[in-house]
Amino acid sequence: MKVAFFVGLLASATSAAGQFTPDPTVLRSIQAEGMERSGVMEIARMLTDVYGPRLTGSPLNEAAGRYAMGLLSDWGLENVRAEPFQFDRPAWMNERYYVQVREPAPFPVLGMASPWSPGTDSLITAEAALAHGVTAADTIDLKGRLRGKAVLITAPFEGHQLHPPPSVVLTPDLLDEMKERNSNAYVLRTGLLVEPNVRRAPDPDAGRPLGSRVLADFLERERVAAVLGSYGGSGGNFSVGATVNPNLVTISVAPEHYSRIYRTVESGLRTEVEIDIRNSISAGPARPFNVLGDLPGIAAAEPLVLIGAHIDSDPAGTGATDNAAGVAVMLEAVRILAEARVPLRRPVRIGLWNGEEHGMLGSLAHAEQSAPYHAAFNLDTGGGLIRAIDTNKLHAAEPILERWIGALAHLELPLTHVLSIGSNPSDDSIFARTGPSFYFHQDPLDYYRGTHHTSQDLYDRLVPENLRTNAIIVAALVYLAANDPVAFTPAR
Ligand SMILES: [Zn+2]
Repeated sequence: MKVAFFVGLLASATSAAGQFTPDPTVLRSIQAEGMERSGVMEIARMLTDVYGPRLTGSPLNEAAGRYAMGLLSDWGLENVRAEPFQFDRPAWMNERYYVQVREPAPFPVLGMASPWSPGTDSLITAEAALAHGVTAADTIDLKGRLRGKAVLITAPFEGHQLHPPPSVVLTPDLLDEMKERNSNAYVLRTGLLVEPNVRRAPDPDAGRPLGSRVLADFLERERVAAVLGSYGGSGGNFSVGATVNPNLVTISVAPEHYSRIYRTVESGLRTEVEIDIRNSISAGPARPFNVLGDLPGIAAAEPLVLIGAHIDSDPAGTGATDNAAGVAVMLEAVRILAEARVPLRRPVRIGLWNGEEHGMLGSLAHAEQSAPYHAAFNLDTGGGLIRAIDTNKLHAAEPILERWIGALAHLELPLTHVLSIGSNPSDDSIFARTGPSFYFHQDPLDYYRGTHHTSQDLYDRLVPENLRTNAIIVAALVYLAANDPVAFTPAR
């Protein structure tokens, strides 16, 4: 549906002191649009169930971008466009995964092809062999003995804790503590509490093991059939490791299954694995793109309000909490602004950054040529409720953001705190180099100890109420950022 934008006089007033007073009617219309006609979960479902995982440059990543562009066009945004950037890897997608232990006891192996692994191209049978902790001296002994084998390259896990502790919520006390200590280390502490996976300790008498790249090159020369590794998780949830050598079929296996194969081989029993991995891989490098769209403001020449989230994901799950949640909330926020015809003085731009997981490539490419922005907002900390805005150490912004939170108090939103911790390794850190750039602290829930970059980062982990509320928060903040004449002083 196309909508005509409301570009008449702003109903809200600017007081004599130059402070912007938000129009309560506008705020109520934002809240009503976000509560009564929310599309956020449908967007999240499409991004995960249909277009997930959205590995940078993959066919699904591209389809997700096209889908988002279609939404922005339907809502009447202007200049909806793809912004391509350089990427040095091909478009890769796994199309078949079959790994089954045949001997000594058959079982299906829970795992995935590591991203950018080559395929086997047919069903192969391989004897499993160990090559973890291999030293330079070991390679002499191993030479000629690994050809055609399925080689285990990481340590087995031991001492799994199956059930993690309950989800983490940022209580007002915890937020006060974060503000006082200027730290969110609690998140890391919480992550450490889980410790479900303890890798077997290395043998103290063994020599220094080869680095993963040197080992992979050795295994390639030895013409092994495949390498298997395990990269954390428990209870059916697991993470996926990288393909260290692009010529080695590389499989990431759930810890318990990996350890079972490992122990069996170690005990001396012949262990046989069937493998059939098929991938689509483009001949040349992929050409991933950011998605951009604009909502016009009546002061077209003013610096814009930039909001965004990264659209690419880790390949293990479908990238639900990282970061379909953020993308869906940012898209829903612009839908609210468009369909509730929220008056905007400054123009608003949405950017769905690609390649974040590979070094924030999309936002870097955009920042090099970005139009000046008044403020940038990025959302990339999971699916919990937004509790705080972080200034990325732009302390001059604190009183302004505090005032905005005060202006929204009657909406009873969970956003209560302004922090200046500024340690978020996401796209906002790129935009903080060239202007005011803010990110959000959300309730971590299961993010840092269960869904971040795991096979369980699925649609099921998303809480509809949280995403609906977050979109209202973002839309309300954008309304304030676009209309409040105050300027953030970018000095830090
Ligand atoms: Zn992320």
